[in-house]
Amino acid sequence: RKVLVIGSGGREFALTQALLRLSSPEAIYVAPGNAGTQQLSPPVVVNVPELKPNDFKGITDFAQKHGIEIVVVGPEDPLTNGLQDFLRESNIPCFGPSAAAARLEGSKAWAKAFMNRHQIPTARHATFSDLTAALEYVEHQTLPMVVKASGLAGGKGVTIAHSREDARKALEAIMGTTPVFGPAAGAEVVIEEYLVGDEVSAIAFCDGDSVAACLPFARDYKRLEEHDSGPNTGGMGSFAPVTDLTTDIAASIQNILVTTVKGMREEGHPYHGVLYGGLIITKGGAAEDGREEVKVLEFNCRFGDPEAQSILPLLSDKVDLAKLMLQCAQGGRFGDTTGRLAASTPRDLTTKNNTFAATVIAASEGYPTATGSIKPHIIHGLPLACRVPGVCSVAQAGTARLVLANGARVVTVSGGRVLGVTGEATTLRLALLHAYHGLSEIRFQGMRCRTDIGAQAVRSQPV
Ligand code: ATP
Repeated sequence: RKVLVIGSGGREFALTQALLRLSSPEAIYVAPGNAGTQQLSPPVVVNVPELKPNDFKGITDFAQKHGIEIVVVGPEDPLTNGLQDFLRESNIPCFGPSAAAARLEGSKAWAKAFMNRHQIPTARHATFSDLTAALEYVEHQTLPMVVKASGLAGGKGVTIAHSREDARKALEAIMGTTPVFGPAAGAEVVIEEYLVGDEVSAIAFCDGDSVAACLPFARDYKRLEEHDSGPNTGGMGSFAPVTDLTTDIAASIQNILVTTVKGMREEGHPYHGVLYGGLIITKGGAAEDGREEVKVLEFNCRFGDPEAQSILPLLSDKVDLAKLMLQCAQGGRFGDTTGRLAASTPRDLTTKNNTFAATVIAASEGYPTATGSIKPHIIHGLPLACRVPGVCSVAQAGTARLVLANGARVVTVSGGRVLGVTGEATTLRLALLHAYHGLSEIRFQGMRCRTDIGAQAVRSQPV
């Protein structure tokens, strides 16, 4: 098989690594890729740096020229912009939803209305396209409240407002005269009740008709600082599987995913590819009778990053990932219906026995607020980190390969997340130890990471 992976982050590194391990493809092209994918497994893995994720014509031409059997799209942007629709016109299978289906992520206002139409539990909310009306609304809401840009904001469009002043500032930033996430993302705003509980990320592979397979549940750490404080980021770490869920909660999660895919099909937008539910298990006060209840915080139309780095290493060798992705792309309402996978009850993808994976992210100084170009810094210790026993992956994200007088060096490029180190072991505690051991070998100027990924979960596990 020949696969084209779209994207350049740690998630795409993890996807490429998993495709290599599980499907032994003839070739994996990564467009544009990063310094990590460049070195992952040449000549099977080839970066295509000139091919950008939103160059639909270029991607289609490339796929046709190279006989690509499946295009796997990492980031949300090309999907919400219609890459799958574009490829479909040329009969090129794409693992990812159409633009209409990707609205589940691309418009939080649309997603909330969809959830209400299908009785999918979520926080109570109101949507506004007018700043004055939104400002007036927050004066009467209980604190804290959550203010969200409706459109894509790279994981930074959500503010937990602990005062009305915070809420007003967030609204001004999203919808004011210089909308910080751009005019499209800030055209609408969702204001919702603040929910309390443990979060869990659930990922399903969908074939247009239904959920074809569920992946292990993961927990990610969105806040920049220790003890879940500081601003939201794209994610500073994760682990999988999450084992402290009751069977009732697990069943509720599965039910939410199945209801969502069914609803999308009924509304004429068959959902293909990854459906990611960002969920919260509310306790006590939130669920009126004090029972635990799962609610949707957000949907994403692609793998989470870093969750992909923790989930994909868990898949057993029995899973042919590329084949499964192809079947999901082709199943259901369009394409080759013989490829359909849908079953009445989704199956769990086969995973390695008794295995946990944990990922810790190293980010650049100033992340997530610094913008503009940041001076590149040499990353030391990458080969050492890769050789640490129990480290299954060092996924590069914001990196580049620079040829200097004394040889080629991998450097930081983006001012964002630079890499993720994943440890794998029979317990979560050990997987975390491996990940942190691997990370301790790595150094670059301004490097920052959280030191408490998974700590709370380990503490609450029986020894
Ligand atoms: P963006 O749209 O900027 O990409 P996102 O899609 O990551 O951001 P959400 O997942 O909706 O945004 O929110 C990010 C985080 O904010 C959640 O993981 C959760 O920790 C917190 N959050 C969001 N909504 C609520 C809520 N109603 N109650 C409590 N916390 C919330």
